[in-house]
Amino acid sequence: MTALHIDEVRSRADADFPRVVDVLSRKIALKSVSAQGITGEHMRRSAEFVARELHKVGVDAHVVQSSNPDGTAGAYEVVGSKNADPNAPTVLLYAHHDVQPVPEPSVWDTDPFTATEVDGRLYGRGSCDDGGGIAIHCGALAVLGSDLRVNIKVFIEGEEEMGSPSFIPFIEAHRDEFDSDVIVVADSGNWSADIPSLTTSLRGNTSMDVTVRVLRHPVHSGQYGGAVLDANTLASMLVSSMYDGQGSLIVPGLVSGEPVGGLQRDLDEATVREDSSVVDSYVFAGIGSLASRLWTKPSVTVIGWDAQPVDTSFNVIADATRIRLSLRTAPGQRPEEAQRALGDFLLAHAPHGAEVTLTPLENGMGWAMNPDAEATKDALEAMKQAFGVEPINKGEGGSIPFIPELQRLFPKAQVLVTGPEDPKSNAHSPNESISLSGLRNNIVAEALLLDKLGC
Ligand SMILES: [Zn+2]
Repeated sequence: MTALHIDEVRSRADADFPRVVDVLSRKIALKSVSAQGITGEHMRRSAEFVARELHKVGVDAHVVQSSNPDGTAGAYEVVGSKNADPNAPTVLLYAHHDVQPVPEPSVWDTDPFTATEVDGRLYGRGSCDDGGGIAIHCGALAVLGSDLRVNIKVFIEGEEEMGSPSFIPFIEAHRDEFDSDVIVVADSGNWSADIPSLTTSLRGNTSMDVTVRVLRHPVHSGQYGGAVLDANTLASMLVSSMYDGQGSLIVPGLVSGEPVGGLQRDLDEATVREDSSVVDSYVFAGIGSLASRLWTKPSVTVIGWDAQPVDTSFNVIADATRIRLSLRTAPGQRPEEAQRALGDFLLAHAPHGAEVTLTPLENGMGWAMNPDAEATKDALEAMKQAFGVEPINKGEGGSIPFIPELQRLFPKAQVLVTGPEDPKSNAHSPNESISLSGLRNNIVAEALLLDKLGC
């Protein structure tokens, strides 16, 4: 079988594009904020809307309410399938229909729940994350129509922004509906609106509470200061013992990786400085490419510290303090292994013989794409054709917990992480938007990919 010609795919996508934008606009108006209640009527309406739109592009889709691990009712999920040929590969298309809340509508330039086009971008909550993912899947299936040559399964989740509490039990209960050869997760994004990307890796994460104790009770700083260091100072010394002079972690056993599939282009330091809002005098920590520091090397952040607030402080030596450490791990390292390495290091570096005790907290695995998988090559080729430029792969410093879970449940599936975002999208922030030219090219790319997978 020969693949569909790019010109044919593009002309079909162009003809269908106003419909796709209309679907996305109506989706935005549904205000499907899962933080206002995963089981709310508004979430059921949103799921039913998505199921109807999937029907229109030939998917036998229906809404299923999942169950939480404790047995209570969970999210409204959309599940569907479209069969082409029993001998062809099966592709699972993932997106989520819930959106982030809008705590302060007044800081938006447009109404968050009225899709508004400005300068080639469509603004609105969920325009990108992840209404854009739904639009890509619906658009690609419409383009292929009866030329579809792979079997399609669809899962549009209703609680991704709430950490997917019922995701794993739901998938385990519906294994057959998800079992597939390739999984396309359209919930990430591109290098820019004009340059496509596969997301190649996600860091894992783990955390722990660390208590540092020096005294059985607080004492007067005038009486004992000089010989007895306060618990906050000792905890600071413990934290700083993890770093060398350049701010690189020196904890043995923490794996440091390099960008998966090789680094095609490093992040631009000026842009990262601007986007992160570091003060002008700050010198970035670590060595090596900025991409490796943000995507594939471990990092530790003190995210909580129990200490006396300044305004109510008085002259005592604190007896004990507790800090919470969040550790981002290299994509391939087991988080429990990293947690143990960090814990062992902290116990071995207790300053001045202070008592250090650890409380390990939850672990989340990272994920790395297989750069040599057939589907990866097909996706990169499809992106290159659709956008007219070479893709630039990128990693993610954060985690998308369900991706490693999907990979764990379906170890043979080739997972491709794509998506509608670009650096101007402001997902999770005010003035969220999607590039319309980027969306159109993403639809062409996914249609070409699905077509290639069936050849
Ligand atoms: Zn998302």
